[in-house]
Amino acid sequence: MQKILNYINGNLIEPHKGEFMDNINPATGKVYSFCPDSTSEDVELAIQAAKAAFPSWSAKSANDRSEILLRLANLIEKNNDKLAEAESIDQGKPFWLAQKGEIPRAKANIHFFATAIEHFASEAHPMGDHAINYTLKTPLGVVSCISPWNLPLYLFTWKIAPALAAGNCVVAKPSEITPMTAFLFSELCIEAGLPAGVLNIVHGLGPKVGPTMTTHPDIKAVSFTGGTKTGAEIARNAAPLFKKLSLELGGKNPNIIFADCDFKKAVAESVRSSFTNQGEICLCGSRIFIERGIYETFKTEFINQTKLLKVGNPLAPDTKVGAIASKVHFEKVLSYIDLAKEEGGTILSGGNSVNVGGEFSEGYFIEPTVIEGLSFDCRTNQEEIFGPVVTLTPFDSEEEVLMMANSTEYGLAATIWTENLTKAHRVSAQIKSGIVWINCWLLRDLRTPFGGVKQSGVGREGGWEALRFFTEQKNVCIKL
Ligand code: NDP
Repeated sequence: MQKILNYINGNLIEPHKGEFMDNINPATGKVYSFCPDSTSEDVELAIQAAKAAFPSWSAKSANDRSEILLRLANLIEKNNDKLAEAESIDQGKPFWLAQKGEIPRAKANIHFFATAIEHFASEAHPMGDHAINYTLKTPLGVVSCISPWNLPLYLFTWKIAPALAAGNCVVAKPSEITPMTAFLFSELCIEAGLPAGVLNIVHGLGPKVGPTMTTHPDIKAVSFTGGTKTGAEIARNAAPLFKKLSLELGGKNPNIIFADCDFKKAVAESVRSSFTNQGEICLCGSRIFIERGIYETFKTEFINQTKLLKVGNPLAPDTKVGAIASKVHFEKVLSYIDLAKEEGGTILSGGNSVNVGGEFSEGYFIEPTVIEGLSFDCRTNQEEIFGPVVTLTPFDSEEEVLMMANSTEYGLAATIWTENLTKAHRVSAQIKSGIVWINCWLLRDLRTPFGGVKQSGVGREGGWEALRFFTEQKNVCIKL
């Protein structure tokens, strides 16, 4: 069975203690490879390798770094289908989703920052004719990038690309639940000629390797995407050490359907924003608020379309909903469906695990689930479920829907469906979230700032924001 290896100082190596964990295919429930169970010794080795590589990597011209990263982007493209298949098996997502969306996006992440760095200029501020300031943006040194299991290679590259492009050396950790594509990516880094030690990938359990990655004196910044609880722990540990922190955390996003929406589009896109990637996207709209006048018709059509989603073998081309990423998460999602029933919710569609049969009979499949009849402030409507579960709630006024939409501790993204542009602007101005989509969902331009408010995070990624995060500014003032 395949052994995944750490990537440290340009080499693919076993963890220091030689220990491995089972890596499970969530569609079969069976072990299909082994993931390093690394320890702080492995992180230390990675940090030392990164530290040694930093002087020459940071001294390279932006153009030289860009060329290496562009080779890497091209290799991702060349290996698109292989990476997509690996992602599907490792994470449970439909193959077509990884093939057409996530792996091309991983390539785009590297490509975007490889080219952006060539335009990331210093600034000058003349003070009349007697002085001039210039502001340099220098790399930080060694930084940590920690990513979750839902969009594995997509989010992994989203962090490391700006860090590397800006001249930093990186110690990175994918989730131990989905380590495979980060491992395949490390092979591509070697093929692309990335100098040894510039990127180091340590596989292992968060609580075991995370603390060294976030508190080590040589780590200058931590870029983390994951759950709010983990983010809080990282902030508690890293903040007193004055490390730069970027935290992209959980969400409980509202999807607001006004009666004057383009009905067909709103229903179809809401099905997509509810159940894409089994609802395991931090941007999925899990609370659907529908203006009362169209509540019943929207509900009927939404359920009709939800029932058409085929749950099953992630590699099959007609599968729309694959497996939940892990057994622990599968049980968590099912426990929230039970909670919704206890809280008085009515299951309109789904609500059960699915036995897909054959080699998938032990897999972690859950029906796309639609629930109504819950109050906006019950736990089901306040806590992040992160699975194929949505609630429907009617509303009567803008004021009411804004109150309900803004009632959670989260504030990552929101979606608004209306053909009235003035209303769209008015409502989006009052929504408390980092991202608002009007008449669309998950339409992303990599130049735009990405991130959340409240407990959805601190800081922004994307575009110049990411390059600013991974650099320190130094102002030099010259008296003329
Ligand atoms: P976790 O917070 O459990 O884990 C995220 C990463 O942190 C994993 O690599 C994990 O390792 C690691 N980790 C765990 N404990 C520590 C620690 N003490 N120190 C350092 N690292 C640690 O999140 P999930 O993987 O469960 O991902 C789902 C969450 O991510 C959801 O809440 C979702 O909303 C959020 N998310 C947010 C996004 C955003 O952009 N705002 C985008 C995508 C997801 P290990 O897996 O080994 O435990």
